Amino acid sequence: MWLKDAKMLRIHGCYAQTELGHGSNVPGLETTATFDKTTDEFVINTPTITAFKFWPGELGKFATHAIVFARLIIDEKDYGIQSFLMQIRDVKTHRLLSGIVAGDIGPKYGFNMKDNGYMAFNHIRIPRNHMLNRYAEVDREGNYRELGNLKILYTVMQSIRILIVRMAFTTLAKGLTIAIRYAIVRTQFKDKHGSNEERPIMDYLTHQFKLIPLLSQTYAFMFVCRRLQNEFASLKKKIKQGDLSEIGLMHTISS
Ligand SMILES: Cc1cc2nc3c(=O)[nH]c(=O)nc-3n(C[C@H](O)[C@H](O)[C@H](O)COP(=O)(O)OP(=O)(O)OC[C@H]3O[C@@H](n4cnc5c(N)ncnc54)[C@H](O)[C@@H]3O)c2cc1C
Repeated sequence: MWLKDAKMLRIHGCYAQTELGHGSNVPGLETTATFDKTTDEFVINTPTITAFKFWPGELGKFATHAIVFARLIIDEKDYGIQSFLMQIRDVKTHRLLSGIVAGDIGPKYGFNMKDNGYMAFNHIRIPRNHMLNRYAEVDREGNYRELGNLKILYTVMQSIRILIVRMAFTTLAKGLTIAIRYAIVRTQFKDKHGSNEERPIMDYLTHQFKLIPLLSQTYAFMFVCRRLQNEFASLKKKIKQGDLSEIGLMHTISS
């Protein structure tokens, strides 16, 4: 339904899981998706301030659509967290759709080119087939059925956490390459042993002290990232074979 437009970059997505009150504790999310049998729709709502979506990248300004994680409620029974695809902005005007409040969370310590955002819903209606139903589904009569193990959904955030480690070391590596190259060509003060040449600032211990520990940290992050990527690849293979036993371990390591 959305893949063609996404591939053509006509629509842009974001991943709206985290809320102001709940980050690590995904089962504690408060956004609700209540099934309305009379209209065959889900009603997506933000019941409290702590239920505001908070942090999703691309949500602040860019995304037209979002995968929204919410508690599935059918006949007042809580079926836990499910994911729903929702349009949040008009694809032509880029204005927020009625009933949705969203924006950029503002300046951060780093990563300021990313429009991490916040979002709340005021009883937004979406068709039943907007619930992502690879692992669980709701039929026209409101019967809920699990089709696989829902733990698999948690692996999405694990891959993002590994990506954050990767971004940390690649960003550090870029900055350090510039700083170290500069320290080798930038010269200050003549050698006190008689040479007329000025010395590269990299020769000075105080300057090395600023750069070398960061360089070793960059390598450490790189090795951690490689290890995590390998572990995640083997986890995905095991999941395909139906073995979910290592999801918990990966969750702990990547947290
Ligand atoms: C740059 C960036 C991009 C992000 N992008 C997205 C995105 O696209 N979509 C999205 O949905 N979210 C996104 N997030 C949110 C991210 O998923 C959460 O920040 C993360 O899940 C942690 O939640 P929290 O920040 O609420 O921290 P908390 O859950 O409050 O945790 C705070 C600290 O307590 C520790 N802690 C928590 N529980 C336990 C426990 N049981 N045992 C031991 N220690 C514990 C944590 O390890 C952490 O150190 C992003 C965050 C950042 C920083």
